[in-house]
Amino acid sequence: MNKEKVIIIGSGPAGYTAALYAARANMNPLMFEGFYSGPAGGQLMTTTEVENYPGFPDGITGPDLMEIFKKQAERFGARFLQEDVTACNLTGKHPFEVIAKQAHFAECVIIATGATAKRLDVPGTGDAEYWNKGVSACAVCDGANPFFRNKPLYVIGGGDSAVEEALFLTHYASRVYLVHRRDELRASKIMAKRALSHPKLEIVWDSVVEKVGGTKLMESITIKNLKTGKIETHPASGLFFAVGHVPNTVFLNNQIDLYPNGYIKVVPGTTKTNIEGVFAAGDVQDSVYRQAITAAGTGCMAALEAERWLAARE
Ligand code: NAP
Repeated sequence: MNKEKVIIIGSGPAGYTAALYAARANMNPLMFEGFYSGPAGGQLMTTTEVENYPGFPDGITGPDLMEIFKKQAERFGARFLQEDVTACNLTGKHPFEVIAKQAHFAECVIIATGATAKRLDVPGTGDAEYWNKGVSACAVCDGANPFFRNKPLYVIGGGDSAVEEALFLTHYASRVYLVHRRDELRASKIMAKRALSHPKLEIVWDSVVEKVGGTKLMESITIKNLKTGKIETHPASGLFFAVGHVPNTVFLNNQIDLYPNGYIKVVPGTTKTNIEGVFAAGDVQDSVYRQAITAAGTGCMAALEAERWLAARE
């Protein structure tokens, strides 16, 4: 049996930082970067400028940041497989079994699979309706599409992601509308200020999207004002969901304790899960901060805790 010291599942800032620290501790880590589950590098691969990652006073793009994270881990011998982990056996037997294209075994496992953007169940937005025909959950991935050019585009949400997506879309749209269910943005003050002062961005307060319509492509949006009850339909070529995320834990098949919101439970102040030798880092265990820097911090913690756990067993 080919047994790894540590397997890292997931390749965002948490995973790459865990790989860097584990590699420098001579643990020869093997990382599963994912394949069909999304691009290696995680959610930062679908952002543009990252302005709040310390060390980059002029900002850096998400993909560039992830590329140098990976390079740094690679320099110390981390190994990478571009495969999805589909299942794990973490209970009962040790070493742990991690199943991707084939079965792999490891003394300890670091889970850093992050979270995925949520979609809302709005009529007209389903896979067989206008999904990918105007409806998307990623402005940065899809915003440059020709059918969005000089057209009215809508974003749902009031957080930093929604504002970021809406601002990004102002480069392409004739006008961008941010539909938010309350009368106050959740986004950070600096982002909210940018949204409120942008000439091409309008916030549709206290409102929800009732449905989208069209022919071949999306062409209209129906919005309800929750305070007045008024329902209006407007021309629209795009709708982007920016309503938060769900943690990626399905492959764990309930073997690890989760919080009711689906995030992995860790011992507070650590990355230890309820299974000894299994650690969780980054957004998959963090429903509060969800920043690249906090993900990287917990990736570092997970590698150090894994190293100590292994040392105590030897
Ligand atoms: P978020 O902060 O959880 O915001 C989600 C937004 O979606 C909220 O405004 C919420 O409304 C709305 N929403 C949720 N469910 C909804 C529903 N069913 N119908 C209508 N609206 C709904 O998520 P996020 O914006 O993805 O941000 C996640 C984290 O990443 C945050 O910590 C954020 O600061 C960070 N982030 C930072 C940056 C940056 O600094 N540049 C960029 C992106 C994300 P309510 O407000 O009414 O709850």
